[in-house]
Amino acid sequence: MTDFDMNKNLSAVMNACPARLVCLITACLFIVGASWGQAVPRRPLPIIDVHVHAMKVNPSFAVEMCPWFLRDMPGGDPNQQMRAFLNAECATPLQPAKSDQEMQAAVVDAMQRLNMTIVAYGDPQILRNWKKAAPGRVIAGIGVSSPNDMSVKAFTDSLSSGFYEVMGEVAPQYQGLSPSDMSLDGYFAAAEKLNIPVGIHMGTGGNGMANIGQSKYRASLGSPFLLEDMLARHPKLKLWVMHAGYPMIDQMIALMGANAYVYVDLAGFIWSYPQAEIHAYLKRLVQAGFGKRIMYGTDLLIWPKLFETSISIIENADYLSFDQKRDIMFNNAVRFFRLDASKFK
Ligand SMILES: [Zn+2]
Repeated sequence: MTDFDMNKNLSAVMNACPARLVCLITACLFIVGASWGQAVPRRPLPIIDVHVHAMKVNPSFAVEMCPWFLRDMPGGDPNQQMRAFLNAECATPLQPAKSDQEMQAAVVDAMQRLNMTIVAYGDPQILRNWKKAAPGRVIAGIGVSSPNDMSVKAFTDSLSSGFYEVMGEVAPQYQGLSPSDMSLDGYFAAAEKLNIPVGIHMGTGGNGMANIGQSKYRASLGSPFLLEDMLARHPKLKLWVMHAGYPMIDQMIALMGANAYVYVDLAGFIWSYPQAEIHAYLKRLVQAGFGKRIMYGTDLLIWPKLFETSISIIENADYLSFDQKRDIMFNNAVRFFRLDASKFK
């Protein structure tokens, strides 16, 4: 009902009433009834999640997961079986999607319900399906982590097609490579030339990453200072450090201080490490003056409810103001990815 309709109906009620007092009461009830009737739920404020993995669901790896499972990193013995990487011993473990269809339906539902846009990378077919199912809500990225993934020419052709608007997730750390390794330089040069923002994984991968199937992984290659040479070679590159370089907070702050266009995302560590640790890290970044350079990201894998789990960390951060939360959830990503804020209302 529009304001005009309501005013018209209201004067009709007033004119038809013989006794003015009764009229007034009737009119008041009408107004209350009309505003109740109008109680259309307001659309939530827009969110941009800059770190989503669009992957094929493997039903045999679809296991339950307890958020913040890395609060306990027990000692072990190489001669004994390692404890499971994930932990499902909590009251309400998150449920995995069991098929690609189930995952897509849950992701699309979450984007519409939460008024959310995602930057997603991974399987090209899954990305295409998600984009089609939620027009305007999926920004596709393509990652290169080693020269063995694809040639610079193939990468440049993919970027030029227009389908991909972001380079990510780039994760040389898992390949035993520094992000400044010259074997990756041609890819960053292509992204710089085409004005494509780049997201690089710098951080941890969970407990015992080097012991369980990622033998090339090196914690030291997550050092944010390793980005400096590459940044110096590509001064126009727009770079965001994924996982905020956790736990290398001092290096992260020094790098952002020296490089004014570097941003971070909060993906992954906000739902895996102990909550006091997450808040201490985030608070330190804000306290150091970088509240305008932090972007919200989930690192969504196969548990659709991870969106809400991760958002709750920001919502419950009592040391952040409303404006600081809006910067993290939306405004900073709009600025970083050069988006048009008016298209997200
Ligand atoms: Zn990552």
